[in-house]
Amino acid sequence: MINEINQIMDQAYDAFLSYQNISGKDKKKFLCTIADEIEALGEELLTTASEETNLPTARFAGERARTCGQLRAFGDLVVEGSWVNAVIDKASPDRKPMPKPDMRKMSIALGPILVFGASNFPLAYSTAGGDTASALAAGCSVIVKGHPAHPKTSALVTSAIKKAIAICGVHPHVFQHVEGESFEMGKILTQHPLTAGVGFTGSLSGGRAIFDYAQQRATPIPVFSEMGSTNPVILLKDALRHDAKEYAKAFAGSITIGVGQFCTNPGIMLGIKSSALNHFTSLLALELSLTPAYKMLHQGIHKNYTQALSNVLYNHDVETIYHAHAEGELIASPVLARVTGDAFLKNVNLHHEIFGPFSLIVVCENKDQLVEIYKNLKGQLTTTIIGTHHDLETNQDILNIAKNVAGRIVFNFVPTGVEVGNATVHGGPYPAATDARFTSVGMDAIQRWVRPVCYQDCPDYLLPDELKNINPLGILRKIDGKFTRDA
Ligand code: NAP
Repeated sequence: MINEINQIMDQAYDAFLSYQNISGKDKKKFLCTIADEIEALGEELLTTASEETNLPTARFAGERARTCGQLRAFGDLVVEGSWVNAVIDKASPDRKPMPKPDMRKMSIALGPILVFGASNFPLAYSTAGGDTASALAAGCSVIVKGHPAHPKTSALVTSAIKKAIAICGVHPHVFQHVEGESFEMGKILTQHPLTAGVGFTGSLSGGRAIFDYAQQRATPIPVFSEMGSTNPVILLKDALRHDAKEYAKAFAGSITIGVGQFCTNPGIMLGIKSSALNHFTSLLALELSLTPAYKMLHQGIHKNYTQALSNVLYNHDVETIYHAHAEGELIASPVLARVTGDAFLKNVNLHHEIFGPFSLIVVCENKDQLVEIYKNLKGQLTTTIIGTHHDLETNQDILNIAKNVAGRIVFNFVPTGVEVGNATVHGGPYPAATDARFTSVGMDAIQRWVRPVCYQDCPDYLLPDELKNINPLGILRKIDGKFTRDA
């Protein structure tokens, strides 16, 4: 395996040296051609993904649109060009006591990036998903360690990328796909001296292990692991009094979408003891009872779900409100449980993510207890606040906690469904992610794969176009502290 990996990494490094210098226009052509070739795979891609995951083909039509939309959006970003964060501080030769040099900086690609494909999003977070698209947009070469749960889907998407490589004439090894269910392979790839960064989506244990492998390297590299989250929902009382039915319906959908196999699944809901909270809980149970039970992605995830469920439900402090008890291979029963704030505070095992169609309602004694619990939750990808205007106005302290808890704060809507845009944050304080300063979804995901380089007193003709005096690309730059597109 070592020889094979050495060869892959040598090829990836050669590809990086050539690919990092291609223009934004050529990168856009490549990214858009990948999207075209993925779409050209047609129904075969949708049915293959469906067969390998037990999820419906309609879901993959949506996921394919997101995947291709992401690739094209990164194409637009790099052709526009301002993403390189160009900054120019002009020289001041007469400055006393020392002359000020001309300093110009911009972001450049890191090198070969290793991507661990996720099992729950075979298209949008895997072979040609957000990590790959953002790394290729930055000018990096990419090695994807495919997830063993969907090898045929990965092979199809790889074939589309290889076609795009041939059509666009970029280096043949700018993208490579490696397979095999082997932690050893993931470890060797992460620790290979030519690997310059890692993107991961999956479990806390996996993401943390890969982060730790990287720390053991002689040359440390950044690892961007996006991992588990319980996505706490705060249920404020006026909203429950007025709109309990609508919210119950929306949250039943959010808990069960994709058989609960979403990292943004609302796994914990916090409210204050009241008849309104009881009423909402009953309505949510009723809505869940109307939702059929479906098959999970693979044996491992199903085993983890049933094990984690029995650990939680076995606890005598936890009351099962709804449990579908559906039978069949890989079938996951939607479950709603309830616990008091006191019991939740005492038992940290109840704070962990249960990956599947499950949610735990925490009934707090009063607002002080809700605040105490909320403040002490670990880092989250999202947190949601359900409240009327009056609720929100009178609970602004909760908003202050929210921003320290999560990467994305949702108001009066469900957390599942991640919009891919310029303002997207899909990350958060550990253990939601290993680096809370970055996002793994959205346009800023590209910033994970670059580093700044500064040119001091460099002759204009030697500067990259982004930093040349005349601004030939017309990009937005910060010159002496002011943003401008001027020369
Ligand atoms: P996973 O176990 O984290 O695996 C994801 C990838 O990481 C796989 O390619 C796996 O290798 C690799 N990996 C995991 N642990 C590793 C280690 N110690 N050393 C080297 N490589 C390692 O995720 P999964 O298989 O998709 O699902 C398992 C559990 O992860 C689920 O039950 C769920 O709890 C959680 N999960 C969470 C999310 C989320 O978004 N929060 C998403 C998916 C899964 P192999 O290919 O060799 O298996």
